[in-house]
Amino acid sequence: MPEIRTGNELMTESAVASINFREAALKLLPEGANFEACLTCGLCSSGCPASGIENMDPRKFIRMALLGMDEELSTTPWIWCCTLCKRCQYVCPMSIDVSQLVYLARGNWPEDRKPSGIVRSCQLTRSSDSTSAMGMPPADFVSVVEEVLAEVRATQPGFSQLRAPIDKRGAHFFVNQNSREPMNEPEEMVPLWKIFDVVGADWTYASKGWAAENFCMFSGNEEAWREVIRKRVEAVNELGCEVWLNTECGHSYYSMWQGIERFGLRANFRLESIVTYYAKWIREGKLPIDSRWNTHGIKFTVQDPCMIVRKAYGDAIAEDMRFVVRTLVGEENFVDMQPNRSANYCCGGGGGFLQAGMTDHRRAYGKRKFDQIAATGAAYVLTPCHNCHSQMHDIGHYYGGHYGVVHLWTLICLSLGILGKNERIYLGPDLRG
Ligand code: SF4
Ligand code: SF4
Repeated sequence: MPEIRTGNELMTESAVASINFREAALKLLPEGANFEACLTCGLCSSGCPASGIENMDPRKFIRMALLGMDEELSTTPWIWCCTLCKRCQYVCPMSIDVSQLVYLARGNWPEDRKPSGIVRSCQLTRSSDSTSAMGMPPADFVSVVEEVLAEVRATQPGFSQLRAPIDKRGAHFFVNQNSREPMNEPEEMVPLWKIFDVVGADWTYASKGWAAENFCMFSGNEEAWREVIRKRVEAVNELGCEVWLNTECGHSYYSMWQGIERFGLRANFRLESIVTYYAKWIREGKLPIDSRWNTHGIKFTVQDPCMIVRKAYGDAIAEDMRFVVRTLVGEENFVDMQPNRSANYCCGGGGGFLQAGMTDHRRAYGKRKFDQIAATGAAYVLTPCHNCHSQMHDIGHYYGGHYGVVHLWTLICLSLGILGKNERIYLGPDLRG
């Protein structure tokens, strides 16, 4: 287990103040913008779930930057509570991106003062060619996939020929996977394999660069972020795949997409989200899901992961996700959170917050999300993101909620009638079968 340093311990330590935040903040102003507006509107703070934590909020952060309070901004542990979700920028009339200042401040902290959970995850990511934040080496990943596949073939009659290729040259899709699955819940990989089987996808995992997560980006360590993305890009280029397919892990998409641009890497492939393909395959009739299984009218809502909706694709992918969910659960059983799509609130699981060891702060941040979910009255939240999944699960438990959190792949296979008994761990008794 990585050593966890708590928020309180962080607070007692100071980082080196060497950033001129005023200069950095002024660079973030778009052409012709007037900073006077910033001092009055407060739209960023009112929509920021981190407002008030550590007596800080985004408007105050900007104001302190303009006042030259560099030491305070360089040492506030609040920078590890801002999830870099960019909702502040989304609502700001001047399009000021506070998260860029926060990212700058993170990078400025000495490595040994940063939250050890984030630093450790980054170190593990760099420790092997897997780029796994849980330190799973390539050989272990390959053997877990082979073992799980053998078991499914032997025990699930309809899937005796199921495939989970590894290092297949020229496959159309290079599929990534969050390490949590092969490490902690390997049976969660199977619904994805079954979906690929149903649609006849030409896909492969890789022994190198297969992992999805990237805490080096969250630690503000540019060199490490670059190194991780470079390894992943090289792995896809080497296999000659056309599409790098991101599978239900939000920050993985963002860190790869932004990393390739930021570091000028040559990627001979395009990046896509599995959500886009779920919608495409349903529209093409390749994924024949429907809501007939939902005979009791169980209600569902969706969480828009900041990293793939607001920060990457925008509302287009949020619409695709709603199309998938409505088809899956029935129009009348879908209840949207308010606000939603690109205006959705971050859940508090992103930006490395789950690994930062600041549990009380993280749960305080998550209260706004909990209230949003509770207001829908939904029995389940669907989300294509691991961090959202873990955080909503935790705050649901902590605040006494009664909802489950489920991946889209689980419900797709449930609708298709192909979900195995041990692939139902996130379903409640109503759907466990
Ligand atoms: S929303 Fe933008 S303009 Fe308004 S206070 Fe925040 S940073 Fe300033
Ligand atoms: S990026 Fe998100 S958490 Fe950070 S200040 Fe903006 S709204 Fe708040």
